[in-house]
Amino acid sequence: MKELFSGVHQFHSQVFQRERDFFDKLVAGQSPSALFVTCSDSRVDPNLITQSGPGELFVLRNAGNIVPPYGASNGGESATIEYAVAALGVRDIVICGHSRCGAVNALLHPEKAAGMPLVSAWLNHAETTRRIIQENYGSVTGDDLVEIAVQEHVLVQIENIQTHPAVAVKLQRGELALHAWIYRLETGSISAYSSENARFEPLTMNDPATENKQIIDNPMQRRRG
Ligand SMILES: [Zn+2]
Repeated sequence: MKELFSGVHQFHSQVFQRERDFFDKLVAGQSPSALFVTCSDSRVDPNLITQSGPGELFVLRNAGNIVPPYGASNGGESATIEYAVAALGVRDIVICGHSRCGAVNALLHPEKAAGMPLVSAWLNHAETTRRIIQENYGSVTGDDLVEIAVQEHVLVQIENIQTHPAVAVKLQRGELALHAWIYRLETGSISAYSSENARFEPLTMNDPATENKQIIDNPMQRRRG
């Protein structure tokens, strides 16, 4: 904790004082451009990997970046999503998984969550991912399996979030775009799902079609159908 105390002091006495005008503006209200859903994993820092600052991302984090389908959980996820979309009017929702995700690994190996009943219960919200992996990727093992599971898992959450009425309404009006991302701890890079090519591809700035490619209406249908 010593490092945290020292960090708090340093932030308040140096950073906050230096950027006073900026922080004063934030006091008046927030208008983040995106809802960023990601894992609680300490190695994934939404603001760092997108080089954004306070006020720019509305963040929802939990173990395994899980978005339970509407009505499936009484947790704060649904309320956070509804608030971001209906009250803050975010135009984009990013669901960002990451490589070497412990929650996804525990999904594949439930024994890793033994003795943690709440973790097991939470991971049940990701049963669809587990089933997809079990049924479709029987021959894949080891790191490759985790890699594929991370990808499928993000796409399942993209499907789940569309069951939330606030999201469905805005999607239908064309006022919201969904983005499936994966952050790689090993390289610091992001790949984004392209519904056009039905695969995750490096996120690039120069590709004029990037924006369209990231917009997903029904990824699984396109992927498998
Ligand atoms: Zn994780």
